[in-house]
Amino acid sequence: MSAALLPATDALDALAAFVRARGRLLVLTGAGCSVASGIPEYRDHEGAWKSRPPVRYAEFVASAAARRRYWGRSLVGWERVAAARPARVHHALAALERAGRIEAVVTQNVDALHQRAGSRRVVDLHGRLDRVECLECGGELDRADVQELLRSWNRGFAAELAAAAARGARPDGDAAVEADFSTFRVPDCPACGGILKPAVVFFGENVPRARVERALRALERADALLVVGSSLMVFSGYRFCLAARAMGKPMAAVNLGRTRADDLLDLKVVADCGGALAEVAAAFDGPRGGPRIHAPAFDASRRPE
Ligand SMILES: [Zn+2]
Repeated sequence: MSAALLPATDALDALAAFVRARGRLLVLTGAGCSVASGIPEYRDHEGAWKSRPPVRYAEFVASAAARRRYWGRSLVGWERVAAARPARVHHALAALERAGRIEAVVTQNVDALHQRAGSRRVVDLHGRLDRVECLECGGELDRADVQELLRSWNRGFAAELAAAAARGARPDGDAAVEADFSTFRVPDCPACGGILKPAVVFFGENVPRARVERALRALERADALLVVGSSLMVFSGYRFCLAARAMGKPMAAVNLGRTRADDLLDLKVVADCGGALAEVAAAFDGPRGGPRIHAPAFDASRRPE
């Protein structure tokens, strides 16, 4: 199978037809979905690193200095993620879910923007940045509470880092800033004194098996796979394309650049995912000329500080 290459409007019609013809979709989303929300992509359209890879898991666990540096940078980087708001693509997917067309959204993003747009059937493959976990007792904290502690304990750093962060933040909330973090104070678990880590899968760390299986079961129940805004360069996402092929499920993708699964796709739409998904969602949202997308159902309880 190879992806059909069509002019833009034909491609969008083909995408709408693809969705219409299949009952329920497993939607796999990536960083391209969050760009319009102001969260930059790690990789460019060819799948190469745009900048230095973030801290690795082994380094974070083994080194207090690496943890000080991570939390110091993320003191600034998190603000950008916390301030991000869902974009058209998030609202469109939430609308498709309300229309009964989505079995699950499996996301590689850690920004929880799908939930904040109103999606409920979400598997956060790589975790959520708005939560913090203890590596000893498994307890969980709100990132907003940890952020308050970090800020009040490290007032001297905040201004310096904020200025440096004007140069940009990373999608995992780890800002691209450097400083001397040797005196940066990092909180431990209030329950057991263990090491605290953002509840996201770091590079060099495996996605928890139960989470992968939950996503694969959703794929089994789904009628087709739709990839949105991902180059699929990370295996944790690409594996769902391999699984879909093994299950004989049709596959489509909307992405601005190439994807690792281009050869497996039945339909490839090279387009901005916000505009493309808004078009598709509109087709399931009442008569032509009616409201295009439901008003966003913003969940205030998930709103970060
Ligand atoms: Zn603990």
